[in-house]
Order: sequence, then C-alpha cells, then structure tokens
Amino acid sequence: MSLAKRAFELQQVDLLIQSQHKQLEDMDLRLNHNTAVEQAQVSLASAENSCSELEKQYKDLDAEAEALRTNITRINEKLYGGKIKNPKELLSFEQEAGMFKATLSKKDDTLLEMMENIEAYKQGIKKLQEIYTAAASAWDKEKAELQVQSQAIKAELTGLDTKHKEILSALDKDTLAAYEGIRGRKGIAVVKVEQGRCLGCRVTLSISELQRVRGNAIVLCDNCGRIMYLS
Ligand SMILES: [Zn+2]
Repeated sequence: MSLAKRAFELQQVDLLIQSQHKQLEDMDLRLNHNTAVEQAQVSLASAENSCSELEKQYKDLDAEAEALRTNITRINEKLYGGKIKNPKELLSFEQEAGMFKATLSKKDDTLLEMMENIEAYKQGIKKLQEIYTAAASAWDKEKAELQVQSQAIKAELTGLDTKHKEILSALDKDTLAAYEGIRGRKGIAVVKVEQGRCLGCRVTLSISELQRVRGNAIVLCDNCGRIMYLS
C-alpha cells in the first residue's frame, strides 16, 4: 500500500472520528437542554407567581373588607342599641356607617373581580402544566432515544480508535508529520487525483507530477500543498 493511500485512510478515519465526536456533542446538548421544556417552565413559573401575588392582594383586601364589616356592625349596634339618644350623634354615626358601606361595596366589587382573575389564572396554570408535562414527556422519550444512539456512536468510536492505531503504526514519522501539519493548516490534508487533476484545488497536474504521484513517495500538490493520492 502506498504511503499516500495510508495517509488517505488515516484521514478517512480521522474525519469519521471528528464527525462522531461532533454528533456526541450535539447529543449532549440535546440531553441537557430542551427549549420547549425550558419555555414551558418559565411560562408556568411566571403565571404561578402572578397568581400567588394576586391571591396575596386578595387576602389583604379581604381583610380590609372584613374590618369594615366589623366596624359597620359596631356602628349599627350603637345606632339601634337605644343607648344613644342625641340626634346629632346618631346622625354622625349614620353618616359614618354610610361611608363605610360605600367603601365596602367598592372593595367587594374589586374582590369579585380579583376572584374572577384568580380563577382565570388557575385555568391558565392548568393548561401550562399540561403543556409542560407534554413537553417533559416528549423530552424524556427523546433522551431515551439519544442515549441509545449515543451508545452506538461510542461503540463505533472504539472501533475507529482501534483502526486509527493500526493505521498509525503502519505510517512512517515523516508522512505522519506532513499529514498532521497540512491537516492543522488546511483541514483536509490528503486529496485524490482524478482525471489528471488535484481535487484539492482543481488544478491539472503536469505529466511529471502525475508520474511522481504514481510512485510510492509522498507528493504534495504544487498549487495547494496537499498530499496527492491516486486511487
Ligand atoms: Zn492541489
């Protein structure tokens, strides 16, 4: 087997290993992050937050309304208890009770409105929980599939590593150094020659270059500097 062919095979294995690692990285990303689940979580948390804030406001306002009711009861007891006889004093209590009742009526309206909003939030939260559950279960399913694929790729990589070692052991130092140097600079180090052209740069080779490529030695393309391989 020519040195160029060995270098070409090494490159095939290297590229495969590289792409398998890239796939594993992508899979890791999908195993650790899921936009649908994350968005559902954010929406749900935000709705729950708003709802509990509203419930807190409702509770405070309800306490205020309760205090007003107590006050009105207290004034009514004075008004109708028979102990107060002074008409001026009675009138003043009546006015006070009237004011409290008006305020209470407004608060009761607001409370009703708030209760409706809270109910609407709870309905919304229920839907968001369903969305979240569906997204999470879809992700679980995806994760299970990804684990299987990831195991398969890891097994393939073990095979590729063995092959990589085999090729390396059959390759001389100079060829390996040339290969690694070009690969580091250009990404692709070994290119095929087809119909008299270097496929790395599409430049047609001279007759003497072609003859050299046919030999066993490593020949670099004059134009793109890559190792040429005649299959
Ligand atoms: Zn070239």
